[in-house]
Amino acid sequence: MPFIEKDGLRYFQFESFETLPIFHAVLTRQGGVSKPPFDSLNFGGTVGDDPAAVLKNHQKTYQILDFDYKSRFDVWQVHGTDIVCANSPRGLDSDHQKADGILTNNPDITLFMRFADCVPILLVDPVKNVIGIVHGGWQGTSLKVAQKAVEKMQNCYGTNPSDIHAGIGPSICQSCYPVGREVYDSFVASFGDQADMFFKTAKDQLLLDLWKANRITLKSAGVTKIEVSGICTACHLDDWFSHRAENGNTGRFGVLMSLTGH
Ligand SMILES: [Zn+2]
Repeated sequence: MPFIEKDGLRYFQFESFETLPIFHAVLTRQGGVSKPPFDSLNFGGTVGDDPAAVLKNHQKTYQILDFDYKSRFDVWQVHGTDIVCANSPRGLDSDHQKADGILTNNPDITLFMRFADCVPILLVDPVKNVIGIVHGGWQGTSLKVAQKAVEKMQNCYGTNPSDIHAGIGPSICQSCYPVGREVYDSFVASFGDQADMFFKTAKDQLLLDLWKANRITLKSAGVTKIEVSGICTACHLDDWFSHRAENGNTGRFGVLMSLTGH
């Protein structure tokens, strides 16, 4: 059952992660305290929501899922390809590093990232006990941020890509994602002829398939165990924040991961 309900929270889990010794939750927008248009479980601190509500949403979530809020490691997501290997929690008073992927082998760290249409890519190496979350919008996807994360897992932790279980989470579907010519050009620059696989034209619009682009990128990096949630954020506004479908006036949902199973 991919959706779990717990004390008012509703979150998605990948079925293929069920037997892995980790905890993960792709949190829907339900169960928080933020007011419209950030209703209700918004984790975005820079989208215009009341900071007290965002803090309350964080604290409530950690409490319900039984994680120490101080164990959090998150970053300032900037649509780039830098990946951080986290050795200790961020420290709630210290600044965010800029990055679009976070990895750890420390069970005392809770990884956390924010999304609203961009692709959450969750990575688990159950052999070396490493987890990671990657943020792939069109820019990160075109720059193969998922591949950069797999390479970083190899470099930091000695991960064998064939041991990795990957999950491509709720994000905007191809039908909901018309893009400009510059987006296509950027994929061609990075993927060459392969880029055409990720686009189709309908009603004179160029539509980008971020799920496929990230799946192919992971496969090229040697990852064979890949689950695609197939859930579109823009098609299901009851569960998800969608930057595109809500004209930029919305919140961010959270993805939380820990090596500490619950
Ligand atoms: Zn859609």
